[in-house]
Amino acid sequence: MSNESELEVLNPATEEVVATVPAVTASDVDAAVVRATAAQARWAALPPADRARLLRRFAVSVDEHLEELAQLEVREAGHTVGNARWEASNARDLLDYAAGGVERLMGHQIPVPGGLNVTIPEPLGVVGVIAPWNFPMPIAAWGTAPALAAGNAVLLKPAETTPLTALRLAELALEAGLPEGLFQVLPGHGPVAGNALVEHPGVAKIVFTGSTAVGKQVLAKGSALLKRVTLELGGKSPNIVFADADLKAAADPFSFLDNSGQDCCARTRILVQEQVYDEVRELLADALSAVVVGDPGDEKTQMGPLISRQQLNRVREFVPADAPALRGVAPDGPGFWFPPTVLTGERPDSPAAREEIFGPVAVLLPFTDEEDAIRLANDTPYGLAGSLWTRDLGRALRVSRAVRAGNLSVNSHSAVRYWTPFGGFKQSGIGRELGPDALAAFTETKNVFISTEGPAQ
Ligand code: NAD
Repeated sequence: MSNESELEVLNPATEEVVATVPAVTASDVDAAVVRATAAQARWAALPPADRARLLRRFAVSVDEHLEELAQLEVREAGHTVGNARWEASNARDLLDYAAGGVERLMGHQIPVPGGLNVTIPEPLGVVGVIAPWNFPMPIAAWGTAPALAAGNAVLLKPAETTPLTALRLAELALEAGLPEGLFQVLPGHGPVAGNALVEHPGVAKIVFTGSTAVGKQVLAKGSALLKRVTLELGGKSPNIVFADADLKAAADPFSFLDNSGQDCCARTRILVQEQVYDEVRELLADALSAVVVGDPGDEKTQMGPLISRQQLNRVREFVPADAPALRGVAPDGPGFWFPPTVLTGERPDSPAAREEIFGPVAVLLPFTDEEDAIRLANDTPYGLAGSLWTRDLGRALRVSRAVRAGNLSVNSHSAVRYWTPFGGFKQSGIGRELGPDALAAFTETKNVFISTEGPAQ
């Protein structure tokens, strides 16, 4: 059991203890901020080419340890080994992509009378990244890589259940030559270590990914210091299937089963035009029964366990044993297993249809026409992602514009790409990460006017 002073990391597939990690205290955070502040000043003073080179070396180092990082992710998070390899490679790619931005972080020259006016994107200083357990490496890298590239220091607080890959990344950063103190990992409890970062006046910005409830607290506390805050929160994303669509592709259950459904972009509301509802239901039933759930270290496994007993209990609450549903199978015995499930008897306003479950569970709901589909898709406090399936290009564009969400894919369940912007509408978050503007989110714009009039006589 984790306690105040240490974090116990369990293998979610076996419930065995993988490691015990000391939990940082608020005074550890204070000391980390002091070290990071000093390191940031030295880092920002380095020539841009040198900073870029060091970040590329860090990327190479991650690449050379890809398999080790992936296996660590399998053990601490229960992710399938295929997913875990992708996650480690995503961290590598983020570092590479951000390194390319260091020498391209440009301001503007704006025409003014009597002189020259330039803007300079200045680093913020020390940035706190608070990461969740669902994608420990990618989400850590989404904040860390562009923040470092823009000249900041980073203090990363991983989730209580998944500190190990983050700690290894910090070692690899040092081995790659990043200055001591520039990128520090602070494993600890959210209300202690995470809160200390949020309340610390020496931390200029918080990048938070996690639950909407904690995100709101982070925003409220951060605002007392006018801290910059980016929030990536929950989702309850639609998969809108029109009758003219490629139904088999649209009904791919990995649109909500990937990472055992512990994905803020999971398409957990399958909205199907009524005339093809039965056909889609059959396709889903067949697909669910074929999903291979089991040992995440086995190359053939498609879905692993949930992260923790707490998460398993939460998912169970949404799925009573007698609920009408399509169900796959999951292993018995130790581990936090839940079968792939599509609930078929829910109303659009039921808790399972409205709340983020964060497990391998979707609801299937019919709609009548385009207007009804848009109404249902938007009938949620969230607005993170969504898919829509139709062969009618005009309709695809109309619905894409009408759905209030930050990341939509047409005739695809495409995942997040590090070189395109990502973030939520409504209660799914504030701000954007990734994409060509990622570094700008870690700078303040300074405007400098230089007079050409000469000193007054
Ligand atoms: P959480 O919001 O409790 O934790 C996320 C991170 O915030 C962790 O690092 C945690 O230690 C930290 N934290 C917790 N309390 C804090 C505080 N008071 N101050 C500062 N930091 C704090 O989320 P969770 O427990 O990991 O998951 C709960 C739910 O959140 C899930 O069921 C899911 O609905 C949602 N979730 C969403 C995402 C996402 O990517 N959108 C990711 C993980 C979880």
